[in-house]
Amino acid sequence: MRPGLEIRGVTKSYANGYKALHGVDVHIPDRRLTTLLGPSGCGKTTLLRLVAGLDTPDEGQLIFHGEDVTSKSAEQRDLSLVFQSYALFPYQSVEENVCYGLRMQGLSAASQRERCAQALVLVGLQGLEDRMPHELSGGQQQRTALARALALQPRILLLDEPLSNLDSNLRRHIREDIRSLQQRLDLTVLYVTHDHAEAMSVSDRVVVMQEGRIAQIGSPRDLYERPLSEFVAAFMGDAVTFDAEVDARGVVHLGPLQIGPDPGLRRGAVRIVVRPHAWRIAPASSAGLPGKVLRSAFLGPSTEVWVHTTLGEILVLIPSPGAAYACGAPVSLFLSAQGVSVLLPSVFSNASE
Ligand code: ATP
Repeated sequence: MRPGLEIRGVTKSYANGYKALHGVDVHIPDRRLTTLLGPSGCGKTTLLRLVAGLDTPDEGQLIFHGEDVTSKSAEQRDLSLVFQSYALFPYQSVEENVCYGLRMQGLSAASQRERCAQALVLVGLQGLEDRMPHELSGGQQQRTALARALALQPRILLLDEPLSNLDSNLRRHIREDIRSLQQRLDLTVLYVTHDHAEAMSVSDRVVVMQEGRIAQIGSPRDLYERPLSEFVAAFMGDAVTFDAEVDARGVVHLGPLQIGPDPGLRRGAVRIVVRPHAWRIAPASSAGLPGKVLRSAFLGPSTEVWVHTTLGEILVLIPSPGAAYACGAPVSLFLSAQGVSVLLPSVFSNASE
């Protein structure tokens, strides 16, 4: 992978002394969609603004296609930014909005119209050139903002929570549009979100941030299946962590349950991450982890069952329609190795890079 944008040792403190980024190192590869994912306040927007050139880092460098752009202005960086509030000019038509950056670049009127028409086709808004922003739905406004960014044909497209003002159906559509545009046009996209499902569904690569640092970098699958920390495991889904023991054969013991073996594991205490779908539930028997059903909820394709056990309350996700378990029913739980990850102690947080 050619390194499109290198973020090297970037730190940033605000005027009130708050340090929002602590030496962040990431590379954003060309022609891929990379997301910055993390809870509110972890520094995603701060990092995106530094990349965009809207702010400057206290320390560190931004290297774009081999060129140091740290002290270059936003205009000199050849990138486009789409915010969560679409920031359309309210008294300009769709076409005028889309042409805004092209006008600034001094393109001829004919070239502007041509680029605008292409961009509107890409986002499915052809025919709406003359509409004003207040005559558009929220989804159409967001598509207009996207067309405005695409018309500039930037080296990198920066999207800051682009779906957060949309309802859930529209979110899905626009998310799919963004992903398909990125793949069709081979765009380099840096996408900020706090929603792990959104990040998983659109990304080639996810950068998980925690309190101004990188917690882990990897493909959506890597992060889900091989989280390096409890923070990443919990952030990527409904995972629960347990203390467990690995024996000399590499079998993981959790209470009466055994998982594995994995010859790569060393004997001793470990933390394991268990996803709700890794549990199997069966009528009470002498095998498995004994428990009592507390409550269950039918979710359509799957059913949630909460079970009280000696290891605590456990959420089990079983495919529907499965056997119905009445409240108070005694059951046995089993674990399949799929859906269980072992957290290895003292791993370097960027090890998956
Ligand atoms: P969100 O998902 O809520 O947008 P974020 O991950 O994008 O959050 P940032 O906006 O980058 O987070 O903020 C990172 C930290 O820096 C937060 O603790 C925030 O309060 C702080 N911060 C952001 N802007 C400023 C500012 N101008 N002055 C002081 N502190 C700031």
